[in-house]
Amino acid sequence: MPLLSQRARSLGTENAFVVLAEVNDLARQGKDIISFCIGQPDFPAPLHVQEAGIKAIREGKHGYTPSAGIDPLREAAAKYMAEMRGGLPIRPQDVVVGAGAKPFIAYAILSTTDHGTGDEVIYPNPGFPIYESQIIACGARPVPVQLREERDFAFDPAELERLITPGTKLLILNTPHNPTGGILTRKALEAIAAVLRKHPQVWIYADEIYSRLCHAESFFSIAQLPGMYERTIISDGASKTWAMTGWRIGFASNPQLAPVLTRWITNTDSCASQISQWAALEAINGPQEAAESMKQSFLERRDLIVGLLNKVPGVTCRVPGGAFYAWPNVTEACGLIGAADSEAFRKRLLHEAGVAVLADIHFGARVAGDGQHVRFSYAASREAIEKGVARMAQFIRANTKKAA
Ligand code: PMP
Repeated sequence: MPLLSQRARSLGTENAFVVLAEVNDLARQGKDIISFCIGQPDFPAPLHVQEAGIKAIREGKHGYTPSAGIDPLREAAAKYMAEMRGGLPIRPQDVVVGAGAKPFIAYAILSTTDHGTGDEVIYPNPGFPIYESQIIACGARPVPVQLREERDFAFDPAELERLITPGTKLLILNTPHNPTGGILTRKALEAIAAVLRKHPQVWIYADEIYSRLCHAESFFSIAQLPGMYERTIISDGASKTWAMTGWRIGFASNPQLAPVLTRWITNTDSCASQISQWAALEAINGPQEAAESMKQSFLERRDLIVGLLNKVPGVTCRVPGGAFYAWPNVTEACGLIGAADSEAFRKRLLHEAGVAVLADIHFGARVAGDGQHVRFSYAASREAIEKGVARMAQFIRANTKKAA
């Protein structure tokens, strides 16, 4: 048999999809599973957006578009991204439309690092697993910066400073954050920017796909700070804000890198789906009631799930500032039921209580000294949240080892 490349063999994945397959298997066997695994809104795209997609089909908008996207969408996205970020001078030609925001992670790494030369990329741990996977696949060196519970899952800027070397080419930031729901406050971003000003060779990839789901304070981007705009690739998109994950539309912006990102798209997807681009244009320019009401509903469910989780024996949960994830600490709960770690806990919770969550190790190596965590995506009904957390509490109570 011909061999696979080292690169293909080392390629990581999103374990959410692996656990999801496990959950679907159990569901097929007739098991009653309440799932908190999936990182997407549990709403359909707004009706007027659906209509715009249908209209594009009916009007014969079936062909390729320019690789950077249709002009009206680049214009609308530039205006939208600028308004969300304190009026940054984003021009339509600085914006590139992609098949989701995800592909820009690889394009950013490929555009700022060279293969096998020791170029380094710093990224948050825990974090969206594709960061580490793509850094390695692109032949750069992955350098995790640890997010700490005591900081509400931000990192210590002094730790960032210690990690930067002359080989550091890119820093990935993600706010609001998957999987912890943490946000980088303006104050935290100012401290990060102060470090970065001393290291002008470092690009920033600001993964701001959850920008509209920021509950703690109004959304703020590192690109708004002095000296940061030119070196920041801002990434946002339609997936989370307008419940359009399957439509595959993301936007990235940077004045210098836009033509480079465009060339990557020409070399891979050619362009994002034209139909989806017209729908995304309507999502941005049309009424925002649906987006606002989804946001409100996530906020209500956040408060519900955090309140309930904090009543579960052995579980504590910080209030996440954004996105739709809760990241409870289950260290004590693991001890109560005799589970070796969060992954053993997750498996037993799934098989014995019918509650599906992801474990911290699905998002990178556990942060030393920070204990065991699991991730709940609370993009689920109130009923599922109430029932799921009640099952978890009951499971822990029923399995608590009696003191000898
Ligand atoms: N970044 C983060 C942090 C995410 O959680 C996700 C989606 N789960 C993405 C990027 C990718 O989003 P998209 O659907 O736009 O590709």
